This record gives sequence, structure tokens and C-alpha cells, in this order.
Amino acid sequence: MSYSYEAPVSQALFDRASVVTPGGVNSPVRAFKAVGGTPRFMVSGDGPYLTDADGRDYVDLVCSWGPMILGHSRPEVVEAVQAAVARGTSFGTPGEGEVALAEEIVARVAPVEQVRLVSSGTEATMSAIRLARGFTGRAKIVKFAGCYHGHVDALLAAAGSGVATFALPDTPGVTGAQAGDTVVLPYNDLDAVRAAFAAHPGEIACVITEASPGNMGVVPPRDGFNAGLKELCAANGALYISDEVMTGFRTSKAGWYGVDGVVPDLMTFGKVMGGGFPAAAFGGRADVMAYLAPAGPVYQAGTLSGNPVATAAGLAQLRLLDDAAYAKVDAVSAEIRGLVTDALGKEGVAHRVQTAANMFSVFFTADEVRDYEDAKRQEAFRFTAFFHSMLADGVYLPPSAFESWFVSTAHDDRAIERVAAALPAAARAAAEATGTGVDA
Ligand code: PLP
Repeated sequence: MSYSYEAPVSQALFDRASVVTPGGVNSPVRAFKAVGGTPRFMVSGDGPYLTDADGRDYVDLVCSWGPMILGHSRPEVVEAVQAAVARGTSFGTPGEGEVALAEEIVARVAPVEQVRLVSSGTEATMSAIRLARGFTGRAKIVKFAGCYHGHVDALLAAAGSGVATFALPDTPGVTGAQAGDTVVLPYNDLDAVRAAFAAHPGEIACVITEASPGNMGVVPPRDGFNAGLKELCAANGALYISDEVMTGFRTSKAGWYGVDGVVPDLMTFGKVMGGGFPAAAFGGRADVMAYLAPAGPVYQAGTLSGNPVATAAGLAQLRLLDDAAYAKVDAVSAEIRGLVTDALGKEGVAHRVQTAANMFSVFFTADEVRDYEDAKRQEAFRFTAFFHSMLADGVYLPPSAFESWFVSTAHDDRAIERVAAALPAAARAAAEATGTGVDA
């Protein structure tokens, strides 16, 4: 594919970056490898817009992969950060901001009786798994193909997100010992979970699942799936861990728990709760959390955990996320979904827009996507053409067919009109696309 627009400053930065950083990026999906072309180096964000180093602006439908649910540079969040920075950036002691953020999480998400703050979603899931193993005295964990829980060694098997985007079979560097206790099952398949418990009686510490997966594209749980997981875990003495790093405080005030009401034993959070800063958390049943050091024997720690600037940003963001804010994000999402469906429908492009509250993604297939195998059957080469047409017309989509799109309260009529204006050409490009994938 050739690209009809140039990004010389981004290209020069990418060339420089590629000398000093593997692949030129600090997180793989940013590199545009799945879609080809030059990754855009962004210099600023304002509301629903991002501006790149070449001075072009884009309607942002990635929102930093979820965190920026109020849009970029929301004044109240910026002010809270500035005030926190002025007081000092890290103390290595407890501080009131951490307590306030923990209280806010506990108040919003009923199953969370206690919470521990960490710095990334990866750390949150890694720590939750360790805690589940420490609490149950069991080694095995169950995860689902296509679910991504960060780059935790034991959780990379058949992971979504970048692992799905690049079709990585297994990740070198993860040893048999690290992965050997991970049982990978097809998503949305309770029979497979039942069979796993029967095959490994008394050995499974926990089942971890994305509360509603967004890392193989948006593939919501079937009715009763999460409740069934909870039941099977309870019946077999295992913990049910709901990973809400992506859905937490995004899909509702109480995340996906606020949507389906299934009560997990442990939950993990990140993204929205950090307000664009590195803050994440895991929490849940008080009797399980009591196993964590210094209260209990399971060790877990972090130099920058509960960082005062990150907690100030997260708290400011969460306090602005009231019912009206979620209604607005849901409405923006519905409007954009409708526009995408219309545009692709007019061009006769087989597609499905799958939705979980305000998260959604577009699969280039006519069939329902229920699991990772279904997701992989889509015509991803059509997404490549669609993506580049949108980018050329000033709309920034996730550079992969296996990711959720994210919107914010800041996506106003003007931003949505720009998306609407870009869609017809992108739909045409998708219709005319041929091939199997990357053609850079
Ligand atoms: N869990 C889920 C569901 C995620 O979507 C992600 C990141 O995308 C993670 C965990 C890992 O979070 P982080 O990238 O902050 O380490």
C-alpha cells in the first residue's frame, strides 16, 4: 500500500528512536507494524484532539488506550496535577492522596473491601495472581485465549492486544516453568472451564478474565458467562479474578461490575483511575487482601506505588466521572458506532461493530465474534486500508484490528462531524482493499 500523505517530522523522530529503542517505540502496538506506515509522534492533546509533530491534528479515538475518558488536558485534572507537583513529586512515605484514591475505589466498587495501589496494570495482575496463589496454596491459573492481562510471564500465553496484533505464537524469554502452570481456555466457553477444574482437582488457584474483553477487539461475555465463572471458582475453592484494567471506571461508575453485578474475589484496575499517569490497583475481599505484606506473608511492594502526582490525577479524574459523564461517553460511542455502521453498510463491507457499554470495535467479518479464533478470522487487511484513510483525513484509530476504540466526554459535535466526514472514503478504501494484511 502507498500512503498519499507524508509525516516527515514523525518519520525523522521515528528514525532517531529506532537507533536507541528497539523498534522505535516503548510499547509494541504504537509502532504501526500491523498497518504499516509511519507512527505519528504526538506533541500535545486538547479535548478530543491530538496534534502530531508535523502540526496535523486528529480526532483521537484511542484516548491513550482508555485512560483519557475526559479527553486531553481537562483543566481540573491539569490543575490537580500542577498543585501536587508543586508540593513534591515523590516521598516514599504514605500520603493522604493514596488514602483518598483507595477510598474512592472502595466506595465505587462494592466487591473491593481493600485495595493496594501499584503503577501499572501489569503489576496489578501479576500481584493479584501471586496473592491468589499465596492465599489458596495452589499453583495453577486459568486464563482465556485473546485476553491480555499485561506482559506478566505466566499470562502471555495466547494473549490479546500486541500479542494478537503480531500473531506471536509464544514469547521467547518465558520459560516452561513460568508458563507451565497456566491453563489457556477458549473464551466464552464454560464447558472448557468445567473440564479444566475436573482435570486439575484442587490445583487451580484462580481464574483470571477480562471483565469484558477488549484486547482481541471487543468481545463481551455471553449472558451468564462471568456468573458461571464465579460459580465454578466458588465450587472448586479457586478465586475469581476480574481484570478491569480496561473496563474499570470506563464502562460505568463501577466499571464492568456496575454492568453485570457479578462479584469477583479480586479485581484489577489501571488506565482511567490514573488520569493519564502510572497508577493502577488490585483489590477485593478483605480476608484475601489480608494475606498481603505487611499485614500478611505474600510480598508485594513498589518505590513509586501511590505516587502523589499520579494519585492526584486519578482522584481528580474519578471525581469528575459522575452519571452525566458516563451518559455523555455512552452517547458519543453510540453516535460513532452508528456512523461507522452506515458508512460500511453503504459500501457493502461485511462487518460487525461489537460493543461493551461505551467500548466498541469494528470487526471486518459478517459473523459474530465470540472468542479469539473468531476474531482472527476477520479480514484484517480491510482494516489496514480503513485505518490509513481515516488517518489521512485526521482521525486517529488504534493501529490494529484487535483493539477497542475509546471515546471521551470531550468528543463534541465538531469532533464527531470530522469522524463522519472521514468515514465514506475509509469505507470505500475498505471495500476496495485486497490482500491479507500488512503491505507497507
Ligand atoms: N489488563 C488489561 C485488561 C489491559 O487491557 C491491560 C493493558 O492494556 C493490562 C492489563 C496491562 O496494563 P498496563 O499496560 O498498564 O501494564
